[in-house]
Amino acid sequence: MPGFSSRVAIYPGTFDPITNGHIDIIQRAAPLFDKVIVTLALNSDKNPLFSIEERIEMIKRSTSDMSHVEVAQFSGLVVDFAARKGASVIIRGLRAVSDFEFEFQMALMNRKQRPEIDTVYLMPDARYTYLSSSIVKEVAQHGGRIERFVPQFVLDMLKKKF
Ligand code: ADP
Repeated sequence: MPGFSSRVAIYPGTFDPITNGHIDIIQRAAPLFDKVIVTLALNSDKNPLFSIEERIEMIKRSTSDMSHVEVAQFSGLVVDFAARKGASVIIRGLRAVSDFEFEFQMALMNRKQRPEIDTVYLMPDARYTYLSSSIVKEVAQHGGRIERFVPQFVLDMLKKKF
């Protein structure tokens, strides 16, 4: 098709572990692009509970039934990774106003690095507005109920950790 170029997006994050909130965002993004690359970012200062392999495995299992969704990992600048993959869009999830300030700063800094790449924000289903990987770990650690917030195999992995 003349003028057609494939629209690739990357969805970067720590995914420690992947939650139903992340999965909701991936499901919303997938139909909007030709390819969505869910990307484990390795250079975060966070001290992850799960290893790289465990996180990749959980992302792969969560997205195995989604067409044109791939899984990757990278360290370095997210915009450089996007460029390398031919992606013109970075996807991020926005839960509440509290996410806004940091995301705004990052989006503008990323735009300074590579103006051709834009960040697109998607809002999850309201059920997941207050959901984060940190809160899931906190509740799981104390034996609380999190089965509505993560897939079963993530629940099993969390049980093994605690
Ligand atoms: P990061 O360390 O990059 O913030 P996270 O794995 O915590 O990594 O989050 C990755 C992206 O997913 C971020 O844009 C974050 O706002 C979004 N996200 C995390 N949890 C949710 C959720 N419950 N609903 C929607 N988006 C979410």
